[in-house]
Amino acid sequence: MNGVWAQFAGNLAFVGLAISLWAHVSIWFQRELGNYSRIAFGVAAGATSIGSILLAVQFSPGVYIDLRFPPIAIAGLFGGPITAIVAALMAVTFRIAIGGAAMAEGVMAIAIVAGIGVAINFYSRKRSPVFSDVAILTGAIGVSLVVMLIVFPTLAKVHALQLIGQPMIGFNCLATALCGFIILKTEHLELERSMLGTSFSQAPDFLYIKDRDSRFIIVNENMAKLYRHRTSSGLTGLTDFDLHATLLAEELYHNEQELMRTGVPMIDALEHIGDRYMLASKVPVRNKDGRVIGLAGVTRDITERTALEHELRESRNLLSHAMAGMSDGFAMFDKKGFLIFCNEQYREAFPLSRDARVVGAHISDILRRIAETRERLDVPTENIEDWIKAAAATLHRNKDEEIQLHNGDWRSIRTRLADNGMAMVAVSDITATKQAEIALRISAEQLKNLAETDGLTGIVNRRAFDEAFMRELARSARNRKPLSLLMIDIDRFKAYNDTYGHLAGDQCLRVISKCLLQSARRPVDIVARYGGEEFVVLLPEIDEEGAMVVAELFAHYLSEENIAHTKSEFGKVTASIGISSETGLVLRTEPSRLLSIADAALYDAKARGRNRIIYRAREEAEDKKTG
Ligand code: GH3
Ligand code: MG
Ligand code: MG
Repeated sequence: MNGVWAQFAGNLAFVGLAISLWAHVSIWFQRELGNYSRIAFGVAAGATSIGSILLAVQFSPGVYIDLRFPPIAIAGLFGGPITAIVAALMAVTFRIAIGGAAMAEGVMAIAIVAGIGVAINFYSRKRSPVFSDVAILTGAIGVSLVVMLIVFPTLAKVHALQLIGQPMIGFNCLATALCGFIILKTEHLELERSMLGTSFSQAPDFLYIKDRDSRFIIVNENMAKLYRHRTSSGLTGLTDFDLHATLLAEELYHNEQELMRTGVPMIDALEHIGDRYMLASKVPVRNKDGRVIGLAGVTRDITERTALEHELRESRNLLSHAMAGMSDGFAMFDKKGFLIFCNEQYREAFPLSRDARVVGAHISDILRRIAETRERLDVPTENIEDWIKAAAATLHRNKDEEIQLHNGDWRSIRTRLADNGMAMVAVSDITATKQAEIALRISAEQLKNLAETDGLTGIVNRRAFDEAFMRELARSARNRKPLSLLMIDIDRFKAYNDTYGHLAGDQCLRVISKCLLQSARRPVDIVARYGGEEFVVLLPEIDEEGAMVVAELFAHYLSEENIAHTKSEFGKVTASIGISSETGLVLRTEPSRLLSIADAALYDAKARGRNRIIYRAREEAEDKKTG
């Protein structure tokens, strides 16, 4: 009996070997035959099955046991329906050809096993079969054989079933599992191999392996393309001397020999090959004994990158050249307030805080230096830290400032926020402009004063008075306050001029205006030369009584001056004064009334003998007009 089992183990080994052989050559089949490889697989599985039948072991006369089923099941699982049909057909044909008992059952059994394989193939359609599929197939084969031995007892004579049934099923299951495992393992190895091969041949870098004499052994496709070889094998056996100018080849050769001699790898070395820039890394390759037998290299083309870097450097240079050449100071602060770029002019614009204005400095450091040196006039004397904090907080805001430095110079600082959050600062020296502006403002003020003052007496002239008069009218009307007006005319002044001369007349006018200014001393009072030897005094918020006081004060001062005037009935210079005073709305509705009434009062004073003060109420004036 033992001899029988040994024979049977031989049958198992045959099936395993045949399948293993197939698994290995199937890679070649798949590459060369494409879809026909399924038929080829079917043929191989069929042949294996037939081979197993031929090697059948006779248990007892007429009872043959073999491993015809596993190859057919495996063909179904891994090859699908076409493969299973081919394999099953071959086995069935052979079974029919050899004839013998239980033919129909034998054929049916082959068909069932093929069907099980195909069923599990369908079940694993969306992916390639895995080990669990093999396990399921193994189980299914075992179960189906048990069922078949029961249903078709003729397959193995009933009396032999107890004896051979269990080992026969066991061996069939074992053979199925073994064959499945062999195919899975081979497929897995092939997958790894092809992934490795693809990543080597398709890598975007240049990959190569050289022998101890720096001859190319293997190169990838990119490498072949670089040297215009159609296939990567075209470079095999060549050296750098076949590809480059002697000088370059010698240098490469020398470096590689040195690398292999010392065993020190070369990482990211720059190689200038033709017009391309390459970054090369080379490592020694050793055999099992640790002896260097060659080198493996990876070279990356960085020409584009180098060109980009070069361009960037150029434009950066250009920018700093432009910055250096401009007259304005320029600085860039990052989001956090650190100075990341500035030109020399920016630093020179602030001599006292110059040292603090360096790349890497924070805006608050710069501001602190300004505060310490009191470089800017707007630095407060206390709470310096608060000022620094507040000023630093406005760095990232668009603004235009004009600041004055300790020495009186002016700087314009324009800050603009860039999209990326950086603050761009442009500084220009505006001292000259600012000085011109200030000078202009002063002379404009002087001009205005000139236009508003009387050249002879230095008091407000008629034009300025008219403006002030309208303004005060409106204000008094709005505030419902009184407004009084004095109109003064020198008595017998023509005679004075005639007697003492025009220059003495001018001097007299100056004395008159001085006396008027002495009498109306509040800042809001307006003393003006109205024309010739006529003067006016405008007294806001003063009623007729107050106005009378001012007029009498003036008459008093003038009398004190005691200016001799022989042609006057008073023997000295005197003046006649008309007063008017109004309150409230009438000032707005009849703006000229104040003037006309004062004028009428003055006329009255002259008529009544001069050297007097007349206050005439509105009603009386109207009476006079109508009467
Ligand atoms: P009355 O008492 O009626 O006012 O007599 P009056 O001579 O002052 O009157 P009138 O208005 O006729 O004379 C004004 C004189 O004032 C005429 C002019 O010679 C003189 N006068 C006007 N402006 C000036 C001036 O700027 N300087 C000098 N010296 N005299 C002036
Ligand atoms: Mg007059
Ligand atoms: Mg006069």
